[in-house]
Amino acid sequence: MKTLVLKPTRTQRIRGGHPWVFAGEVQKISGEEQPGEVVQVKDAKGKFVGLGTVNPNSNILVRLLTRMEETIDDDFWRRRIEEALKVRGDYLTGTDAYRLIHSEADGLPGLVVDRYGPYLSVQILAMGIEVRRDLIIQTLIDLVKPRGIFERSDVSVRRLEGLEERKGPIWGQTPPKSLIINEGPYQIGVDIQNGQKTGFFLDQRPNRLRVGELAKGRRVLNAFSYSGGFTMAAALGGATEVVSVDISAEAIALGEANAQMNGVSERCSWVTANAFDFLREQEKAKELYDMIILDPPAFTKSKDSIPGAIRGYKEINLRAIRMLRPGGMLVSASCSHHMDAQTFVSVIQDAANDSGRRLRQLDLRGAGIDHPVLPAAPETNYLKCFYGTVN
Ligand code: SAH
Repeated sequence: MKTLVLKPTRTQRIRGGHPWVFAGEVQKISGEEQPGEVVQVKDAKGKFVGLGTVNPNSNILVRLLTRMEETIDDDFWRRRIEEALKVRGDYLTGTDAYRLIHSEADGLPGLVVDRYGPYLSVQILAMGIEVRRDLIIQTLIDLVKPRGIFERSDVSVRRLEGLEERKGPIWGQTPPKSLIINEGPYQIGVDIQNGQKTGFFLDQRPNRLRVGELAKGRRVLNAFSYSGGFTMAAALGGATEVVSVDISAEAIALGEANAQMNGVSERCSWVTANAFDFLREQEKAKELYDMIILDPPAFTKSKDSIPGAIRGYKEINLRAIRMLRPGGMLVSASCSHHMDAQTFVSVIQDAANDSGRRLRQLDLRGAGIDHPVLPAAPETNYLKCFYGTVN
């Protein structure tokens, strides 16, 4: 097995449990490493650090798999998948759609597998998984026995690994264009083939369910609604009216169909618009709400663009706060990996200060247990959902 040696000064993050070794952190690399092969990482003193898959074409040179001197064979990958399935099987109830495998946090760096009823939606984001694709797929077939597996590796981050984007059926039946999944009290139509992400935003499930508990008797605005997951939760939770806005006409069409299916159409209205413009117009029109949900896409994909992201979050939160009736509830999410929870909450407080309103934080949540976090890699704790009242 080939060995990579870390620079003497660059070990703290890695020693602390972070699974990535960047190209700039190793002393030298022979150039003979095969993309995806397992290598051994040692520190400058020659002490064993771990085993991981190497990709000489990526800035993330090694993705560590283990800190133990163990054999990385087919059985190792199978055990890792079994461990991921066990967490879900033991602790998840009330839904037939959830993330089965969450990449680094499940010890399977670069592999995302989402379960939508009898179908799996798979995303391969790293070379270490790419070269073992057949093994991984066969193991999923053996262990999960799905009706079909569809690949959604149509994401640009693959280019950072030197991989082309790819999308299409891998095995078994191709999922229907509108697959119905169950989440708590409502059903959602999911388009695995063409929907955003792997078909749906599974990470927000606990927050959707929570909104369902809090929405009773409220007039709700759901901004950045996608297919209306929060809308269904609020409407079935007893909201008097839910207005949903998204920039994507496809998302709004899915939302309308979902409202129909759940029998809540008459209390729901749908707007295809840029939410920034819509919030501005609504504020100008002096619209008032009792609950406003903000769930925008990540405003920053890198550390450099954090100031711009902060301005974006501040603007939408300020407009939302101004439109809330006294006692109204703000449910405000950020899925930017580079924005930590403390910074995010302080942006919301800043917005409250500008509005002169009094903000109380009731809760701050993340994703569900099907999206585990690596404490040593804070960026894996990417989803923040703030709940507060405004007086
Ligand atoms: N809340 C949703 C997920 C939202 S994801 C759920 O629970 O399923 C973010 C959404 O924001 C996407 O649907 C995307 O189409 C939409 N979006 C992106 N930019 C936008 C903008 N400027 N205005 C409105 N919607 C936008």
